[in-house]
Amino acid sequence: MTQAPPDAEARRAISPVICYPTDTLPVPDLGLYRSARATAGKVGEVLVPPREGRCFEVKAGQFFRISSVEGPQVGDLNLHNLHDLKERFFSGKTRALHGTHVTTGERLWSNLPYLRPMATIIEDTLGWYGIDPYGGSVHDVIGTRCDPYTGNLLAGGHYHHCCHSNLTRSLASHTGLPLGEAEMLVHDVLNVFMCTGFTRDTGQYFMKASPVRPGDFLEFFAEIDLLGNLSACPGGDCSSEHSSDTAACHPLLVEIFSPVQGALGGWSSPPVNAYDRSHGR
Ligand SMILES: [Zn+2]
Repeated sequence: MTQAPPDAEARRAISPVICYPTDTLPVPDLGLYRSARATAGKVGEVLVPPREGRCFEVKAGQFFRISSVEGPQVGDLNLHNLHDLKERFFSGKTRALHGTHVTTGERLWSNLPYLRPMATIIEDTLGWYGIDPYGGSVHDVIGTRCDPYTGNLLAGGHYHHCCHSNLTRSLASHTGLPLGEAEMLVHDVLNVFMCTGFTRDTGQYFMKASPVRPGDFLEFFAEIDLLGNLSACPGGDCSSEHSSDTAACHPLLVEIFSPVQGALGGWSSPPVNAYDRSHGR
């Protein structure tokens, strides 16, 4: 233990400053998205089996909904630019901009140097949950994804149905890429329906039983052409453990909806970030 300086309490008492105030962040036109959504018809669906991953394609201006269908289940979501798989969801910057958990009106941002909104959340039936007394909330961008390497590190063994592996297999199957190449494109996820937080006393990442029930859903507007990749986590509702076959697991349903022509008015897909990329040289 290090010796605290005499002014330790005064230093601790300094109030925090928000790193990225979002008042200058472009605000999505939720009213427009919702009125377009009201005209939309279903154009596709993918059922993600328990402990597996599945890809789906959504065009810019379409909507996709992830639903709990048979029982409480957590999903690990990856997003890529459909035409350039190197542009992918950036959970770290999404967290820095919107906080540890995301809900209606917030966006999933892409990695550098692209840094643009990939998708906007337009509806969240678990929006009522808020932040519970443990500091837990739903749909986190703080976890990474369960993976067999961490499993091997902590417990040994070779479990093959962690979200990382599920996402790797489904991306390889969908794109035709070799497994090893697909694996390098898998990235940190949005933990759909997962209830997580950090303990106050030790700062450790925790999970608890997801409040999701069949019929609950999270719905997105696709800002660019997307390749989605969703894993139904082997942790099921993540009430006890993951990285094994012991938890009760359920499928997740992905549905895609397309609005009628003209319903989005003058909306256009956002360009990549405007920074000139000269980096001072
Ligand atoms: Zn998982």
